Amino acid sequence: MQLNCEICHSLLKAADRQQEICKDCSEIERTEFQKLKRYLIKKPKATILDIKADTTISMDLVQRWKRQKRI
Ligand SMILES: [Zn+2]
Repeated sequence: MQLNCEICHSLLKAADRQQEICKDCSEIERTEFQKLKRYLIKKPKATILDIKADTTISMDLVQRWKRQKRI
């Protein structure tokens, strides 16, 4: 079980441990994921490197979504 937020590494509240990230980061994650989805609609074949070059989305988040197979 995750005790610290995967993104900002702050200590997680018991209720947030399932999510592996804290409330603040999950807000940010939601916004950033929308941003990435819009980007991938325009550039469906984009690689991680393209995402890094073309957007401001944090690579920590991108790696996390990859691991979760959301992208
Ligand atoms: Zn956090």
